Amino acid sequence: MKIGVLGAGISGLSIAKILKKTFDVEVLEKNPVCGGIARTTDVDGVAYHTIGGHCFNSKYEDVLSFVFDEVLPKSEWNKVIRKSKIKFQNYEIDYPIEFSIKQIYEHDKELAQRLTIDFFKADDNGKYENLDEWFRKKFGNSFAEEYFIPYNSKIWNNDPKKMSYLWVEDKLPIPNKDSFFEGLISNMRDKMSHSEFYYPKTNNQNTFIEALAKDTAIKYNYKVESIKYDNSSKKWIINDTDHYDLIINTTPLDQFIGTLANAPENIQSAAKKLKKNGVSNILWKTKETDKTWTYIPNQKYLFHRYIHIGSFWNPKQNYSISEVIGQHSVEEMTKVGQQDDFLIEPIAHSVSDYAYVVFDENYDVTTRAIKEYLEEAGLHTLGRFGEWQYYNMDVCIKKAIDLSKKIIEKQF
Ligand SMILES: Cc1cc2nc3c(=O)[nH]c(=O)nc-3n(C[C@H](O)[C@H](O)[C@H](O)COP(=O)(O)OP(=O)(O)OC[C@H]3O[C@@H](n4cnc5c(N)ncnc54)[C@H](O)[C@@H]3O)c2cc1C
Repeated sequence: MKIGVLGAGISGLSIAKILKKTFDVEVLEKNPVCGGIARTTDVDGVAYHTIGGHCFNSKYEDVLSFVFDEVLPKSEWNKVIRKSKIKFQNYEIDYPIEFSIKQIYEHDKELAQRLTIDFFKADDNGKYENLDEWFRKKFGNSFAEEYFIPYNSKIWNNDPKKMSYLWVEDKLPIPNKDSFFEGLISNMRDKMSHSEFYYPKTNNQNTFIEALAKDTAIKYNYKVESIKYDNSSKKWIINDTDHYDLIINTTPLDQFIGTLANAPENIQSAAKKLKKNGVSNILWKTKETDKTWTYIPNQKYLFHRYIHIGSFWNPKQNYSISEVIGQHSVEEMTKVGQQDDFLIEPIAHSVSDYAYVVFDENYDVTTRAIKEYLEEAGLHTLGRFGEWQYYNMDVCIKKAIDLSKKIIEKQF
């Protein structure tokens, strides 16, 4: 069986690596390099994540063994302890905010009391109309209004009242009343998988990407533009030239649907309703810091996050990435950055179209219709934009492991 994998990001590279042990696999990638969103680019010897800043860890044992046993040995990774902060009001507290009541109390006793009382008063009946209500019922009105709603309005560029809450599990620590109380009387922190994480010892994420791509057949500079099924040969034909028995898509779902010759009108229009945000980033030379990243909920300040990428490296260096949703020019971002004397000098700037899937009110209906159609057509789709999900790299790998098992089981 010959399999065509569309896209050489983390998802495409992972599934190709697994399936090539059993099948003839070819990856088609529009860019001259692999790695997709997770790739870095060299800026005067500094590995710049043009989108975000990628730390790796996972709660899934099979993902950890795939990465450490088959891709890049654990001895080739630095382990980094997360030290993330929130610029809250006019001071800094530790992330996550719900375990930082003592720190808030040192600055503002009334607010700390109100956050606490409202947390215990919150009535979580398990029914939520939207993301705004989810925050209120999980954390109480004060946490919702002082932090979660402003921060999330900023990073989604959308009103949480018009958003689904379905992406939050695994993305945020979600305390219950017991763990919140424990946080008040002890130094307990969250147990999210990224509370400690791994970064390649070369201080460059591309080391991981290149190890993942090693020995896989990848056709670079190959943009998939049309896909049709030939009933007589029972093969998928890509760009009228390449023939495959099976196709696994990892390219963005909205564009992928557009390449399918026979996708019905209702599926084409569902694909047009899919919403996503791009990001603009600047790499800065900065003052010294031991933080790994900083969240900035203040809606008057353009950037929503600093990723202190230099703290992922060993030895540490003074570089951070500032991130903002949407397209913003280097001039605008530089001017904003000058308000913060921590950011010394802009080194590089980048803008991307695809960074975050937006879980708006159409999300459920549109993604379900598209996925049902693809399943019926016998097409697999995988990955952050392939499944239109808020996946980290490890979840992309997990989904690749699970899908490859299904494909192998079906074949034998
Ligand atoms: C700001 C930000 C920060 C992040 N931070 C982290 C983090 O710290 N840790 C973590 O684990 N994850 C993080 N992630 C998530 C991580 O980047 C993704 O989960 C992962 O990289 C997605 O991989 P993918 O292969 O599914 O998609 P992509 O990387 O988008 O790969 C798709 C590939 O398809 C190619 N392609 C597109 N169209 C075509 C076409 N027509 N023909 C051929 N090829 C095509 C693209 O060039 C690309 O190479 C972050 C993401 C963002 C946006």
